Order: sequence, then C-alpha cells, then structure tokens
Amino acid sequence: MENCIFCKIINGDIPSKKLYEDELVYAFYDVNPEAPIHFLVIPKEHIESTNDLNPNNINVVSHIFKVINKLVVDLGVSQKGYRIVNNCGEDGGQTVNHLHFHVLASRNLQWPPG
Ligand code: AMP
Repeated sequence: MENCIFCKIINGDIPSKKLYEDELVYAFYDVNPEAPIHFLVIPKEHIESTNDLNPNNINVVSHIFKVINKLVVDLGVSQKGYRIVNNCGEDGGQTVNHLHFHVLASRNLQWPPG
C-alpha cells in the first residue's frame, strides 16, 4: 500500500536489517529497539491491524508464529524467554498501521507494561 512504511520496507524502498523473508512474511530488526533483541514480523500483504483479520487472511498469523518459533531458536533466546507484542489502534499504542508482531528478548522484561 502506498505511504505505508512497512510496505516500503518489504519492497526494498526503505532499508531494513532483514532477519528472515519468505513468500508470506518479512522479519527485520526494530529501528528503535526496546530490548537487546527486538525484531518485527509482518505479513507481506497489507493488513492494517488485528481488527482487519478475517477468514481469508488469518492463516498468516499462524505462519508468523511459526516463523517466530524458528527465529527465537536461531537467535538462541527460546529457552531463556522472550515477549511477543501486538499493539492495536490508538489505545494499544500502534504507530504503524501495518499488522506487526514485536519480539523482545535478552533482558528481563517487566509486567505490566506502561
Ligand atoms: P507500533 O508502535 O506497535 O506500531 O510499532 C511500530 C514499530 O516500528 C516501532 O517499534 C518502531 O520503532 C518501528 N519502526 C518504525 N519505522 C521503522 C523502520 N524504518 N525500520 C524498523 N523499525 C521501524
């Protein structure tokens, strides 16, 4: 989608530190990390938020979690633990309107979040 920074990252119009890519998803390091390891996994299809998931596109979410399972093993943080975050809408703190899952690891994360 035009004017979506994550679509531009997928297309290579904006540079990113890519971790993984396949036909359905793209994973890259967050430019403003909140933990020593902080990456994002996004669908290649432009889906604005979890509000826009439907029976036609929801399978990508299970694929995203499969990719996260692989990446946390590859990065060596699966056993120590990590946090997966999805922010939805204004109150959820979503700033980029392209569905994405944050994965934060390598520090002791506190709860509840701010
Ligand atoms: P959210 O606030 O949940 O919408 O998360 C958006 C995330 O995208 C933030 O953590 C930003 O730091 C990150 N972000 C924004 N622009 C870029 C970029 N060009 N490359 C990597 N991460 C980005």
